[in-house]
Formats: sequence, structure tokens, C-alpha cells
Amino acid sequence: MSFQSGRFAPFALLAALLATSPVIAEQPADAAYDLVLHGGRVIDPESGLDATRDVAVADGRIIAIAAGPLHGAIEIDASGLVVAPGFIDLHTHSPTLLGQDYQVRDGVTTALELEAGAYPVREYGALIEDAPRMHFGSSVGYGSVRLEVKLGIRQAHLAVGSPRPIGWRGYWTAFRSLFTVPDEVFRELATPAERERIRAMLHEGLDDGGLGIGFPLDYMSEAVDEDEARQVFAVASERGVPVFIHLRRGVNGDPAGLREALSLARETGASVHVCHLQHNAMRNTELFLQEIRDARARGVDVTTEVLPYNAGSALISSAVFGRNWQEVFDITYGDVEWASTGERFDEAMWNEYREDHPDGQVIHHYVKEEWTRRALLEPGVIVVSDLLPMHDETSKVAPHNGAFTKILGRYVREQGVLDLQTALAKMTLLPARRLEGFAPLFARKGRVQVGADADLTVFDPQTVIDRATYGDPFQAADGIVHVIVGGEIVVRDGALRDGVAPGRRLLTDGAE
Ligand SMILES: [Zn+2]
Repeated sequence: MSFQSGRFAPFALLAALLATSPVIAEQPADAAYDLVLHGGRVIDPESGLDATRDVAVADGRIIAIAAGPLHGAIEIDASGLVVAPGFIDLHTHSPTLLGQDYQVRDGVTTALELEAGAYPVREYGALIEDAPRMHFGSSVGYGSVRLEVKLGIRQAHLAVGSPRPIGWRGYWTAFRSLFTVPDEVFRELATPAERERIRAMLHEGLDDGGLGIGFPLDYMSEAVDEDEARQVFAVASERGVPVFIHLRRGVNGDPAGLREALSLARETGASVHVCHLQHNAMRNTELFLQEIRDARARGVDVTTEVLPYNAGSALISSAVFGRNWQEVFDITYGDVEWASTGERFDEAMWNEYREDHPDGQVIHHYVKEEWTRRALLEPGVIVVSDLLPMHDETSKVAPHNGAFTKILGRYVREQGVLDLQTALAKMTLLPARRLEGFAPLFARKGRVQVGADADLTVFDPQTVIDRATYGDPFQAADGIVHVIVGGEIVVRDGALRDGVAPGRRLLTDGAE
């Protein structure tokens, strides 16, 4: 920051002009701050700070944190509120304006697509790049790479984010492809020449600034043999980036998929991040956590994440329901809900709907709350949303746009199973640390410290709560009072501010 920079010259000039005013004369330099949050409970999970402070922002950074009063061009009273680092979501699939509008009111200031990823990386987020509410970015997406190699179709993000807005119909067609994909892409082995091309494209995506490699292996389990999977880990190791993996799903929590990923990480030296742990581990959540701890003790750089929801969501016609799904998920028809009405299935209704309404969304309730809570309470486990694409408020998706406020409202305040400092670390500092080793800009995120980026979430700890439900997902969270992204106020007094779009595309070598 600099008071002399062009941007702040007007304030400096104003201060000089008003220098005869006794009020200004007492604090001439302070008048140059863009923004001051007064008297909030400032929590910084890295330093352990948890105290009443004023926080001053200028030029997109935090430039002062003080017990005494600071002053700026804009001053906000944060008394009674928590001032936290903006939440960093490592796992969203919704780079849409609608998705961002809900996520920012859930306290998110950085939303990343690291599980599915995109290729080309810089075409990710085409639908938001003119008006990003928050920072965004993606890994190099293995599914998109394979789609291009196998079919010659370029689709930066399998669900959304094609170079042009693809519209509602096109969006669903594309999104559906993630689940009911053409056989060639996700069922057919790659030839040696195709493997070589895939390898080159992964490197190219990483050259382009991709935040690691997104490897949704489960969706292409039949097509990707161990050699091809090893190549993914080998490239990640060579480039010093993690593999973000959706493990091959075994029957009812079989740990084989986890063991494969950990052994490839160990063999190649790659880092690995295991997506939505309890959704893969199921009844073996404790075992998965133990194996992850053991791997870490043996020197494997492995992390994992949890989302506070206990169901999955997919089209009724998707591949996942073409296999022995009752056995895989340890559920039956009655555990599956028809999303648009909330009706539960029986066998006859299932067969009829699968035939007559292949585009209908179902919600399969297969995760037990005790597994979710166990994963959440494990030290070092990161909180994510796994938000599905939100395009249209008539669609029935999932309520993941309340993931972060759900943690703060339900688990911290109502149930008291997690303390606030720990919960905030899981949604700010820990995700930043997962990335900063290869993407240095993240060393300035996830913290409320002088010099850190001014991405801040200000919430009321007494009222913060999620409101979205499976039946009614388009309910913005409550209690997120102010959200500041890159020094700009995107949410003020709980309301989105029109036309404020300070988000930036985040890449390994910086933001643009
Ligand atoms: Zn997944």
C-alpha cells in the first residue's frame, strides 16, 4: 500500500485541504485508509489472535490492526460481530453468477474448482469472469482433458464454463455428461499415443497456472487403469502440485480406492488431497482417517476435506445408478428422494421414473451424520461445499450454498462440538496452506494479518446459520453481515451490493 499511489491521491489531497480542521489534523495519515472495520472480534487462526480490534484496509490489503481507533474513508461498526478471514472453498462446481451470489452470502471470498477442474484452465469461469463476486480458479481438469483427447470436444469445465454462456439447455446437457458420459471418454482405455497427449496437456494446463490436477477418477474408473493413474501422480510430483482426487468408489466404503491413491502418492512423491472423505469412506470413516494419519506419518503429503451434508445428488439416469447402487451405497429405494417433490421411491416408482424422466434429479441419502461429524472433528480436515452448478432458481439441486454457515451455526453454536477458532481454521487457513506451497498468493489469504489480502468475512456468531435445504436450496444464509473481497465491500448489512465484482482469477503464479 502507498498513500502516494495514484489511487489514493484524492484522499491525500482531501486531507491536505482540510488540514486546518482539528479533527483531520489529529489523524492526517489515517484518512488515507480505504476502509476500517471498527471494534469487531478479530479472529486470526494462524496467530491465534482473538480480540477486539480495528482493521484498516487500503489498496486491497490489510494495512493496520489496532486496539485503538483507526479511521478511513468508509467506516463500518463491527462491534458484536466476528471479523474472520474470508472463507476459501476448495471444492465448488458452480462458477456461475447465481452460485457466486449465494456463496458470497455464505461468507466465501475464494471459490475454487479443484476436484473436477477445467481445461483449458483460463477458460474456466467464462460465465462469471466479467463480474466475479469473489476470487475463482481451477485445477487442470482430467475429465476435460480426456474428453478432448477421446472425442475432440473442448469443454473447459464439464458442467459449466464453456467459452460462451451455453444456456440452460446446453448447461444441463453438459452437466449430464459428467455423470452419463460418452463411453469413449470415461469407459475406454487410453492408447499409448493418447496417454502421451494427456501427459502433455496436463503439463500445458499447469504451465497455464492450473491449481494442481483435478482427478475425478471415480467417474472414469473403468477407463483409467493404474498406469494411467500413475502418470497423473507422476506429472503432479514433477510439477510440485497436488492431485485432487475423487477416489474410486468401492462397495460400502471399501478402502481400496484410498489405498491406491496413497500408494501412488508415496511411490511418485506427489501430494494428494482426498475429496469429500466421508462420502467415500462411509462406515469406514474412522479407518480412512487412520490410514491418512499413518500415511502422513510416513511422509506422504496428504490432506482431506468434509462437506456438512449427508446425501449425494445425481440424475436418475446417471451411470452411478446403472450399477449395483444399493450395494455400493448400502441403501434401498426408500433412501432415495425425487428432488422436485421430495417423494421417496419404491421399486415400481424407481423403474418407471428412470424410464420416463431420465433428466430428473434424485437425492440419495446414504451418509450418516456420525460419519460427517467424525470427519469434521478430525484435526486438519478442511471444510468445503461441493456446490453443484446453480443456474436457475427453478432447478432442484442441493443446499450446499450454506455449507460454511452450517458449520458455524449448527456445529459451533448449536451443538458446541467445534470451537470457533478451529472451525474458522478449517475454512480459511488450512485451505490456504494446502495451496500456498505451489501458488504463493495463498500465503496472503486465509489470515487477518497486516499485509494479508483484504478478503474478510464479518458475521454475527449469535445468528449465523444456513437456510438452504434439499427441498428448497435457494435460501441465502443468515448472519453473514459484511463480506469484503480484495478490499471491496460485496455484501453490506447482509445484502449484495449491485455491480460490485472485485474477484480475480487465481493462478499458481498470481492473480489476473
Ligand atoms: Zn466428487
